Amino acid sequence: MIASDLRSGVERLGDMIAEAKTIVPFTGAGISTECGIPDFRSPGGIWTRYRPIEFGEFVASQDARDESWRRRFAMEEIFAAARPGRGHRALASLYRAGKIPAVITQNIDNLHQASGFAAEHVIELHGNTTYARCIGCGQAYQLDWVKRRFIEDGAPNCTVCDEPVKTATISFGQMMPEEEMQRATALSRACDLFIAIGSSLVVWPAAGFPMMAKNAGARLVIINREPTEQDDIADLVIRHDIGETLGPFVGN
Ligand SMILES: [Zn+2]
Repeated sequence: MIASDLRSGVERLGDMIAEAKTIVPFTGAGISTECGIPDFRSPGGIWTRYRPIEFGEFVASQDARDESWRRRFAMEEIFAAARPGRGHRALASLYRAGKIPAVITQNIDNLHQASGFAAEHVIELHGNTTYARCIGCGQAYQLDWVKRRFIEDGAPNCTVCDEPVKTATISFGQMMPEEEMQRATALSRACDLFIAIGSSLVVWPAAGFPMMAKNAGARLVIINREPTEQDDIADLVIRHDIGETLGPFVGN
């Protein structure tokens, strides 16, 4: 059912939240646009202007690694300045109230953690761009460390095993993280309300979770400005601004 207007949508959502025991939110780029973080996949987004650097190229070529880090540092002001939006804060309120065990996200911006979610309760399907990891041994590195090395010698290698260091994101051509996929699957099946927020739900595996939740008996809510691929199976569709829709649920 598509909400006829914002007010009736928020009202219906409020009822469903009140009736739910376990809510699992699934978030995409749309929840972070009011925080100044562009949707990389949208028309005019960075991925439509620059060809993405695939994981294989990153591993094989110092030039590709240098270019990848140049692009990341060019985005630093945007990521460093971003603060949680109304959507993040509303979910954090429901998390503190014990209604949300964990959030599943396609975003790499760390804003769920910044809003108050414990790191272990943010399931990042595409990783996190606010720190780096060695692709060999997994050693974590601060971006400041990478930047100092980068300025001196170009993209750095790990001080432990000498393999390249990369943002802790999942690149094109890289495997989906297995543990995160398993946890996201288990959560989707165990909730009684699944809320997809700011994702077009086209890209696998995003497309699979709403159906998984639905098949396991949960109610499904989709909040997105644009129609999504899964609107037909949703119990409630709210096609409005995410901040305005979730703003009323920001608590203390
Ligand atoms: Zn290493």
